[in-house]
Amino acid sequence: MSFSLEKKANLKPAQKINLMGMPMAKVENFFAAIGEKRFRAAQTIQWIHHKGILDIENMTNFSKPLRRKLVSIAEVRPPDIINCEQSSDGTQKWLIQLNGGSCVEAVFIPERGRGTLCISSQIGCALDCSFCATGKQGFNRNLSASEIIGQVWLAAKSLGKFDQTASQCITNVVMMGMGEPLMNFDNVVDAMKIMLDDHGYGLSKRRVTLSTAGIIPAIEKLGDVSDVSLAISLHAPNDELRNELVPINRKYPLSGLVSSAKRYLDKMPDNRRKITIEYTLMDKVNDRSYHARELANLLKDLPCKINLIPFNPFLGAQYKRVTDFAMYRFRDILQQHGYTVTIRTTRGDDIAAACGQLAGQVNDKTRRQERYKKKFSEEQTVKMIF
Ligand code: SAH
Repeated sequence: MSFSLEKKANLKPAQKINLMGMPMAKVENFFAAIGEKRFRAAQTIQWIHHKGILDIENMTNFSKPLRRKLVSIAEVRPPDIINCEQSSDGTQKWLIQLNGGSCVEAVFIPERGRGTLCISSQIGCALDCSFCATGKQGFNRNLSASEIIGQVWLAAKSLGKFDQTASQCITNVVMMGMGEPLMNFDNVVDAMKIMLDDHGYGLSKRRVTLSTAGIIPAIEKLGDVSDVSLAISLHAPNDELRNELVPINRKYPLSGLVSSAKRYLDKMPDNRRKITIEYTLMDKVNDRSYHARELANLLKDLPCKINLIPFNPFLGAQYKRVTDFAMYRFRDILQQHGYTVTIRTTRGDDIAAACGQLAGQVNDKTRRQERYKKKFSEEQTVKMIF
């Protein structure tokens, strides 16, 4: 990294270095490279993520010449909120616009004693899981670290954290919005470092959760650089069904995935950690008793808890929500096998903020969105004719 002042002096704002998404080590290097003391890094991170300050001129424990120097080469820039919706159950959803015009969504879910923020890591998603609305939008690009942590910053500001008026605060962050976080490894890891840093958001590593469809080599790498909670989107107890629901399974099949999850836990300094297994239940697809028994057997050597998610329908979806009867039967079988099982209550579905309903506005580069819309409208026409 080189920050030659002479070269950067006349940069346009877009070319300035954005300090928003830099974790401590990178901000330290930045200050060292411009001939300043490294301890300025902690101060900068506090200004941005504790106090919500974007204007470098307002970072008042920096001398005037330092501020002037910083302003000429750096900026602090989150993305823009262009819409905010509030559900009748208190869930809030923000539509966030990024450079290039695409939008992603972030959702805040208040519960008694905690507040969970669900954020996005990519514009769209390349994985195309058959039951997920995001996949139908196609894919545009990875979010930068500034755009990822920027969602936390924007939510914290909207909730009143920076001016101490917050009645609700963000205690948990889940990377379960749009995108596959492990396909955007470096930026996601940088953003998570700021979430965990006491000078940043100071969240507990157990309360920051990365959810993945199962990119095995990236799970291996993650265990070497981070110890956040890991959730795996499983959704099927055998390769045949999982290949259909989560196509990346053809590349990274179940047995390898379960062992890599186990290795992730083995790398953690404490041995009380568990993997969260996410299992979206779809009517008659993966919700039968024999699926539950097969799942219990598959996971028998993995310390885990299982989170059942009733499928949330979206326009054109080919699946139906699980019935309550099948959902409780599935849960009971897993519990009889000794698993801790939770059922994720659907929150914010009146504003399409529930799991798998986040769709943002993706300037799709894959043409998948177009194909999906075409297929959907053809199916509708067929239904109308017959
Ligand atoms: N790509 C990551 C994170 C995004 S999805 C992953 O796969 O984990 C977050 C969770 O919501 C995943 O478990 C996903 O499978 C689930 N999900 C997706 N679409 C859904 C839908 N329509 N109804 C219920 N859950 C869904």
